[in-house]
Amino acid sequence: METKVVVIDHKSMDEEILQEAGNIIKNGGLVAFPTETVYGLGGDGLKEDVAEKIYRAKGRPSDNPLILHIAELSALEVLAVDIPELAYRLAEKFWPGPLTMILKKSSIVPYAVTGGLDTVAIRMPSDEIAREIIKESGTYIAAPSANSSSRPSPTKAEHVIEDLFGKIDMIVDGGDSDIGLESSIIDLSGEVPMILRPGFITKEDFEEIVAKVEYDKAVLAKKMQESIVAKAPGMKYRHYAPKGQITIVEGKEAKVANTINAFVKEAEQKGVRVAVLCAEETKENYQCKHIYSLGSLKQEKEMGAHLFATLRSFDKDGMEVIYSESFEQTKLAKAIMNRLRKAAGYQTITCE
Ligand code: AMP
Ligand code: MG
Repeated sequence: METKVVVIDHKSMDEEILQEAGNIIKNGGLVAFPTETVYGLGGDGLKEDVAEKIYRAKGRPSDNPLILHIAELSALEVLAVDIPELAYRLAEKFWPGPLTMILKKSSIVPYAVTGGLDTVAIRMPSDEIAREIIKESGTYIAAPSANSSSRPSPTKAEHVIEDLFGKIDMIVDGGDSDIGLESSIIDLSGEVPMILRPGFITKEDFEEIVAKVEYDKAVLAKKMQESIVAKAPGMKYRHYAPKGQITIVEGKEAKVANTINAFVKEAEQKGVRVAVLCAEETKENYQCKHIYSLGSLKQEKEMGAHLFATLRSFDKDGMEVIYSESFEQTKLAKAIMNRLRKAAGYQTITCE
């Protein structure tokens, strides 16, 4: 398939490109477009065969549900039923923005989109390009992250090109994703609101509005077994992984540095291409040829935004083994560590 790649500027959006992208989706095609979280791979969210096309292009198991993207609040009542009052309060505070809500689905939503579940995931993005494409499409856009299944999520159009060129109709390049981590997901379909995926909107942010909100067990999992008892099918799959094996080393700063340096020395002596993933503040602790800093602990938004691109650069640079610090200090720690643990296949060493 021929994939058209177009560049668009957030500040002066080319109306024709937005219309073309919307039309492709209206006609059952697939378009990758920027959102404030990560790039999405969008198709008509009300068509069963389009959902199947999305799964095929990504190589994603079809029981891993898709998120429906809307541009107006009124869409909520078209796609969901039994909507709790809390949903409206969350929408008022966090929409448009990096929040996905799980609600009971209406009959209009095909099971092919929800992975067979009776619930539906809905998000209203704040990215203007995304919103305009949704409006132009005249439908609701099912959009998972625009990466091949199991690869790190795309935060630049070039990541989408790497994974999906030749498999979809169009890629809209709107520059780097602002947040760079997928949306926070909150499940409102049960008794207690549950965080299924931590993101830029944190538990503390929710607690300003919701008296009681809990993490799903799988979110906090530090081991593979724990993560498999997941509420949503999608939560159990291996994700974000570069080809090299990542090991997370936790503990006090000096011990972590000693442990990682010893592993690096051993690996380098064997001729293995080994990398260290750390923060700007701790870079000097390491003796390694390939040190990757996620950024300053004081600028956690940037750390989050750099994570997926950094995971991809391990592949590009041919890293075979990666040792990473654990980034527990920041407000975004839950979101960052959730992705990093999955990328590491939960391989962790704790220094005593
Ligand atoms: P992605 O589209 O790549 O950001 O992944 C979407 C994720 O949303 C899935 O992996 C699920 O974890 C979650 N999700 C989507 N729909 C539902 C649902 N109905 N119930 C629970 N989780 C869902
Ligand atoms: Mg994804």
